[in-house]
Amino acid sequence: MKRAVVIGSGPNGLAAAITLARAGLEVEVHEAEEQLGGGLRSAELTLPGFVHDVCSSVHPLGLASPLFRTLELDVDWIQPDAPAAHPLDDGTAVLLEHSLVATAAGLGHDERAYRRLVGPLVDSWHAVERVLLGPHPVSPKALLRLGDRLGARGLVEAFRAALAPARTLAESRFGDERTRAWFAGHAAHSMLPLERRPSAGFGLALAVLGHVVGWPFPRGGSQALADALATKLREHGGEIRTSSPVDSLPRADVVLADVVPRELLRLGGGRLPERYARGLRSYRHGPGAFKVDWALDGPIPWRAEDCRRAGTVHLGGSLEEISASEWGAWRGRLAGRPFVLLAQTSLFDPTRAPAGGHTAWAYCHVPNGSAEDMTERIEAQVERFAPGFRDLVLARHAMGPAELEARNRNLVGGDLNAGAMDLGQLLFRPVRRLVPYRTPLEGVYICSAATPPGGGVHGMCGYSAARVALKDLERRA
Ligand SMILES: Cc1cc2nc3c(=O)[nH]c(=O)nc-3n(C[C@H](O)[C@H](O)[C@H](O)COP(=O)(O)OP(=O)(O)OC[C@H]3O[C@@H](n4cnc5c(N)ncnc54)[C@H](O)[C@@H]3O)c2cc1C
Repeated sequence: MKRAVVIGSGPNGLAAAITLARAGLEVEVHEAEEQLGGGLRSAELTLPGFVHDVCSSVHPLGLASPLFRTLELDVDWIQPDAPAAHPLDDGTAVLLEHSLVATAAGLGHDERAYRRLVGPLVDSWHAVERVLLGPHPVSPKALLRLGDRLGARGLVEAFRAALAPARTLAESRFGDERTRAWFAGHAAHSMLPLERRPSAGFGLALAVLGHVVGWPFPRGGSQALADALATKLREHGGEIRTSSPVDSLPRADVVLADVVPRELLRLGGGRLPERYARGLRSYRHGPGAFKVDWALDGPIPWRAEDCRRAGTVHLGGSLEEISASEWGAWRGRLAGRPFVLLAQTSLFDPTRAPAGGHTAWAYCHVPNGSAEDMTERIEAQVERFAPGFRDLVLARHAMGPAELEARNRNLVGGDLNAGAMDLGQLLFRPVRRLVPYRTPLEGVYICSAATPPGGGVHGMCGYSAARVALKDLERRA
């Protein structure tokens, strides 16, 4: 039996491990931290009985993942009434609803423009999914299938829209400031300035995902998804060792590393050829995150009633304000009014807090490695749209880039995407290679979110890397 070692138990490490174990390999996962799951861990960060997601919380990509779908994981996905809400200063909110028609209806004059932009992508989701999520490298067949579905003109239009800067797309397609602000909130998940490509693609993908799978979360917290993946791996004979940091590349038939380029360089310890090592050294990280979790004495008192229906709330007001916040984080400046992404999972999942209590999870983007405490500014943004919020805070827990990185060495400077997702690094992650998972060392692969399709909980980096590794093993045999 061939032996495989996987370094790291994030969603990509576990996805790779399961893929190898299902193919009959003897698999061992080594996780540096005490708790498995990487970005999928949950913990009582504030008070006993209040369960917080340490990193990732909302999982449209998890439910859309072609791999997770086939695994039939034991996860109870909770769908909030609406995926996301964007409150405005006039006390109203713009919503991403599950229904495309209902969402469009809420966009006033932009109703038709939204349907025209997003409708074809929703209708062709299965073909879009293959190109967006993989498995990678994307086959010409997958592209042809997408072309068949959208038509040649539709395909060109879809790529042009997805690869555009969010501001360009919002201003060219939508006439209403409310719609532009709402779209900017979705696009800002990219951690890119809204004036950079392909920030529009992130906004579009998240809107489409809202319609095809929703923005759900696992009952009990993100850890439930990590635990379900771990259970699946063990069912196939795989083993996981926690508190087991790896300091050099182990000996095995196959090694898959769920690590960022900086860590791969360290593990390689001079064994990596200089040209490849240089490529890894020039890999760029994006802004960091500053995160706050709260234990609350009640639900957040949103001025816009509709916000209570949403699992995720985007706090940033107008497109101009969100743009200033994201440029700041990108250019090394702190925003006075940061764009805040907030999740209120306990509204829909009572297991997250004791009776009557609630949790909330929020973060904003900051310059990579920033040491500034953003708690006050994040709370001011919540208070702006939900007066009285601060009175409900029973306890809070804050983590800046340094604390995030201390819990997971993949979060370099707090960068939660394992590397900037700008156009260059979206197409070529982590280096310019046709098959980016392979390293020049035989049998050694990189499988983290620093490879295609990139950040987010979907396991498709791990799955794609493991497929390449299995093909190579077969060839070598
Ligand atoms: C604050 C925050 C919020 C986020 N929110 C969302 C969200 O809502 N939705 C979403 O889809 N995504 C979200 N993400 C992103 C998501 O968590 C990541 O994209 C995803 O976890 C990447 O998976 P991965 O397996 O590549 O790496 P990770 O999940 O980072 O896992 C890597 C693992 O490898 C281990 N490791 C690294 N080096 C070694 C070594 N040498 N030896 C042993 N172990 C090692 C680490 O300890 C870690 O456990 C968020 C991330 C953060 C930080």
